[in-house]
Amino acid sequence: MDVILLGAGVSGLSAGLELARRGARVTLLDRGTLGGESTWAGAGIVFPLLPWQYGADFNRLALTSLAHYPDWVEQLRELSHTDPEYLVSGLLVLPPIEEEAAPWCAEHGLQCGAPPADLPGFALPPPDSLWLPQVAQIRNPRLARALAEAIRALGGHIEDNVAVEDIGLQGSRLTSVRAGGKIYRADHFVLATGAWSSLPLANLPALPAIRPVRGQMLLYPPGRHRLQQIVYQDGFYLVPRKDGHLLAGSTLEFGSYAKETNETGRRRLHQRASGLLSGLPEPIRHWAGIRPGSPDNLPVVGPHPDYVNLYLNVGHYRYGVTLAPTCARLLADQMTGAVPELPTAPYSLQAASARTWPEPAV
Ligand SMILES: Cc1cc2nc3c(=O)[nH]c(=O)nc-3n(C[C@H](O)[C@H](O)[C@H](O)COP(=O)(O)OP(=O)(O)OC[C@H]3O[C@@H](n4cnc5c(N)ncnc54)[C@H](O)[C@@H]3O)c2cc1C
Repeated sequence: MDVILLGAGVSGLSAGLELARRGARVTLLDRGTLGGESTWAGAGIVFPLLPWQYGADFNRLALTSLAHYPDWVEQLRELSHTDPEYLVSGLLVLPPIEEEAAPWCAEHGLQCGAPPADLPGFALPPPDSLWLPQVAQIRNPRLARALAEAIRALGGHIEDNVAVEDIGLQGSRLTSVRAGGKIYRADHFVLATGAWSSLPLANLPALPAIRPVRGQMLLYPPGRHRLQQIVYQDGFYLVPRKDGHLLAGSTLEFGSYAKETNETGRRRLHQRASGLLSGLPEPIRHWAGIRPGSPDNLPVVGPHPDYVNLYLNVGHYRYGVTLAPTCARLLADQMTGAVPELPTAPYSLQAASARTWPEPAV
């Protein structure tokens, strides 16, 4: 099977790798730098914040992914000879904590409880906080690099900085893509263009179920904090990297495709970070990425109802890194006729189109 994947963020790359593993000849085309959009901008937390606030269809995907992650990363490391720095650093959730949190964890087999008194970085974590020791993070830019290397190791091709100019169509069948002045032909096509799937792509229509949601992040230098675990409080998080850098995020800004940062975002995030860790210096970097937003955070993974050989892996919103292994498998199962490990109906375009977007809180 020859497959062209449009978009080389984590969704295109993970799907490309899964298909290549199953013997497909894959080509990924990206109009920018591979992994350079939302995939680069994120925090790389491999966990929903917070799962007991999400619905069953989302958590089924997320929990399956959490189970796959260690093996997935191990295979990736072997194929790519690149370490994406998957690190089980644990998650400390500071109050307020919903009543259902502990029962939810118990029901789903996740360890959680009171934090140990000697958690690095906090003189004394508040006793009513919640400690989830199994939660992991990954260095998302390195994950993209590792996925790309693994695809190449299996004979796949990735071309970035090529703009799609036209899509060849015969009735409801895609035949080719013209990009960067070259024609690429394949049996199957996958759209993995993240937030930009909400816009028309050449002669393919937009997916209105997806919307852009900007997120700003701050980066602090190593050396001024001792934090080693991810900390979350009321919509805000801190993520300490292995090398001591500290990420703080993130904003949720609806409707913008512009990766601009602003002073309001910087001030809000810095205030929250300094409120949790006293003595933090000024951030050394401030950036924004555009999430592929979807109602209920449910991605669209499966066939496009209007084209016989077009598949979708889009709309992963806040959790594209977390969901990557499972969505890649679900997509490849549907493309190769294998029995999917999860029900696919909740992740269809039809289901996504029937969901409504809540009015965004300002
Ligand atoms: C601030 C922030 C924090 C986040 N934190 C986390 C986290 O901690 N954990 C987590 O799991 N997720 C997190 N996310 C979400 C996660 O980053 C996204 O869900 C994920 O990156 C989506 O991947 P994608 O490949 O679908 O999209 P993208 O990474 O945006 O990739 C889409 C690709 O398509 C390409 N493209 C677009 N249009 C075209 C076209 N016409 N032709 C060719 N190529 C095209 C783009 O250039 C891009 O490379 C975060 C996101 C942000 C912004």
